[in-house]
Amino acid sequence: MSAAQDKAVAGAGGAAEDTPLLRARDLARHYAVSRGWFAAKATVKALDGVSFELRAGRTLAVVGESGCGKSTLARALTLIETPTSGELLIHGRDASDASARKALRRDVQMVFQNPYAALNPRKTIASTLAEPLVINTRLSRAERQERVEALAAKVGLRMEHLRRYPHMFSGGQRQRIAIARAMVLQPGIVVADEPTSALDLSIQAQILNLFMDLQEEFRTGYVFISHNLAVVEHVADEVLVMYLGRVVERGEKRQLFARPLHPYTQALISATPALRPADRRARIRIHGELPSPLKPPSGCAFHQRCPMAIPRCAQVRPELREVDGRMVACDLV
Ligand code: SF4
Repeated sequence: MSAAQDKAVAGAGGAAEDTPLLRARDLARHYAVSRGWFAAKATVKALDGVSFELRAGRTLAVVGESGCGKSTLARALTLIETPTSGELLIHGRDASDASARKALRRDVQMVFQNPYAALNPRKTIASTLAEPLVINTRLSRAERQERVEALAAKVGLRMEHLRRYPHMFSGGQRQRIAIARAMVLQPGIVVADEPTSALDLSIQAQILNLFMDLQEEFRTGYVFISHNLAVVEHVADEVLVMYLGRVVERGEKRQLFARPLHPYTQALISATPALRPADRRARIRIHGELPSPLKPPSGCAFHQRCPMAIPRCAQVRPELREVDGRMVACDLV
């Protein structure tokens, strides 16, 4: 069976070419958190009404501080966690449908920040890469080996590497292996959660270029989670800025970096070092920490730190609305 036939048999296909790979509508993930024996449970809204679309060959970057909901979003998209409410369509199919989940799961793969934790130290690289094919496809042993060797070559591994174990590689090589494992089933979507933040700067660039080369070849859609705006500027087509579980700005990368509209996006981008003097911006400082999601501020969740806040901001929560070709949640824009 060829790779293409295998994908047609076991993949989540069937959707029209112009159907988005991913469509999230008002996706929410809330947790009930205990506050002690006699107190009522609190609700943490880790993800609170997130909507977006991802198309083939495109990269959506998700940015924001730690605790803004990026990783919860990653777990919801990879079907590790079930959303509390909202709709998630993968290839046009409802991800909450139990009968579709197995096929959809193989079409959404994840690359983690720490590749060593994601690789089994007792397995050779050949068997690590072949394992998803054994579980999910009907490829023969020879076909599996052929696919593993072809992919290993694409990610820059040599044939002798396939007989080695994860501890015998550097951090960058391990991330190449983790990317190969994520790509071996030829998924439509890869969710990458801070995939370069544990690597040296010089290696980061190589891994980012590898992601982009593979995307060009396989038309994979990436959801790329990062707190590093310089990385995001390099890889993204579209950017989703999150604050305390909600989207505060969403738009095309070029437009968003050229003229960020939300004060939080402005502050994030102004803090990103620029190589060319012409690209440097005046630093916009925001003060204080991200508020506790156990006790989110009233009105606009950003009002306690926002340099533009007015008294009304503490009372009225701004909804996302279209401004200048992108979506922004700030009533003063
Ligand atoms: Fe700042 Fe007010 Fe806009 Fe919120 S609504 S981002 S507090 S100006």
